[in-house]
Amino acid sequence: MKITILGAGVIGITSAYMLARDGHKVEIIDRNSGPSEECSFSNGAQLSYCHAEPWASFGSLKKGLRWIGQAEAPLLFRPLPSLQMWSWVFEYLKNCNSKAERRNTERILKLGLLSRKVLHEIENDLGFDFSYRKGGKLFIFRDKEEFECYLKQARLQEIYGSKYQILSPVEALEYEPSLRESVGSIYACVRDPMDESADAYEFSVKLVEKLKEMGVKFHFDQKIEKIDTSEGKISRVITDKNEFQSDLFVLSLGAYSSLLAKEIGIKLPIYPIKGYSITVDIKNEEKAPGNSVTDYYEKVVYSRIGNKLRAAGTAEFAGYDDSITGRRINMLKRSTKKYFPYSGDIDNAESWACLRPSTPDSCPVIGKSDRFKNLYFNTGHGTLGWTQNFASAKIITDIIAERLGDYDSEEFDLNWFSASRFN
Ligand SMILES: Cc1cc2nc3c(=O)[nH]c(=O)nc-3n(C[C@H](O)[C@H](O)[C@H](O)COP(=O)(O)OP(=O)(O)OC[C@H]3O[C@@H](n4cnc5c(N)ncnc54)[C@H](O)[C@@H]3O)c2cc1C
Repeated sequence: MKITILGAGVIGITSAYMLARDGHKVEIIDRNSGPSEECSFSNGAQLSYCHAEPWASFGSLKKGLRWIGQAEAPLLFRPLPSLQMWSWVFEYLKNCNSKAERRNTERILKLGLLSRKVLHEIENDLGFDFSYRKGGKLFIFRDKEEFECYLKQARLQEIYGSKYQILSPVEALEYEPSLRESVGSIYACVRDPMDESADAYEFSVKLVEKLKEMGVKFHFDQKIEKIDTSEGKISRVITDKNEFQSDLFVLSLGAYSSLLAKEIGIKLPIYPIKGYSITVDIKNEEKAPGNSVTDYYEKVVYSRIGNKLRAAGTAEFAGYDDSITGRRINMLKRSTKKYFPYSGDIDNAESWACLRPSTPDSCPVIGKSDRFKNLYFNTGHGTLGWTQNFASAKIITDIIAERLGDYDSEEFDLNWFSASRFN
């Protein structure tokens, strides 16, 4: 079958890999000159399979309200006169209850664990390095309240298969000696042995080379402007340079997925939530973390990418404005200086910002459109797109092949991620 993927972010290209392996003739359209130049470019690099706490939770809502009006707080909400924003907030609030939190936790965790399994299965076939590290992750907590809040979540996740190990700050130094300077300010730590990290951009560039060898065609520098439909199908996709016909289309346009879907009458509640990162050149190996670290209170994640330290986080509701705000970057620099003050030249770190494609229940949209029989979605991965990427690509490939695989034995329901859950 000829399959056209809209969007060459990490989700689009990994879907291309799985679909091409399944024998399809695949092509990809993207407006940039290469893969993963938007949200997948400079993200936190964590493969957080076991970080399944949905954003829509009573705890996060309480914290968010506390941060209102603080320009350097981890969450910044700029109210806009936008129906898209307010209907997203309404759906988000509907998910802030213990029943929904539990349901969403199970789905996020099982998707993460499947992703880990899939990546381990395909690792050899990929055959290239992408700064992949398998050393687990360390969560750091500043006080008793947030530590206990995390433990509640960790105990829930344990039921569905994740593991955790409580460590005193001094014990944590065994795993992360680079925290020595800041150990006095840490209340407790938790080690997550299953999490990993890797560079999504390096992965993307190398995967594209492999995909070209596999016969996948790339149409870069083409902005998709319109989707035409007729008789319940997508008839063509029109870009500023060309038009494309195909047996089947997969929509993977990140935060922009909802805009094009709206043009053809489909409501996808995917809202852009801006995040920031800084990338520091490491000058002092021992003073930079060897694996992933997450500061639970500020939700800042740290990862090691070769001789660079990436710090990422913050959530800003500002519509489709993806500009870099100095104060948000300052917050990341301040946090990095607190934990890894001698790692490198933090003041001159490279800054970046991008829009996460976020759904109100923190679960992606993967599956077939109810409305157009040759349209499929693989989008809306929010804070965890790099992590969930491998499972999502497998799921969309299996759904297209109408192959149920062994999902039943994993108590995994493919309908969990269907777009129809928002109807
Ligand atoms: C600060 C930050 C830190 C993060 N940290 C992590 C992390 O540590 N771990 C993790 O798992 N996830 C993390 N994420 C989330 C992760 O990066 C995203 O979920 C993921 O990159 C989304 O991938 P995507 O392919 O859906 O979107 P994108 O990478 O944005 O790809 C969408 C593609 O669609 C193209 N496109 C859009 N509109 C058009 C159009 N009209 N015409 C043509 N092309 C178009 C774009 O050019 C782009 O290439 C982080 C995100 C941010 C912002």
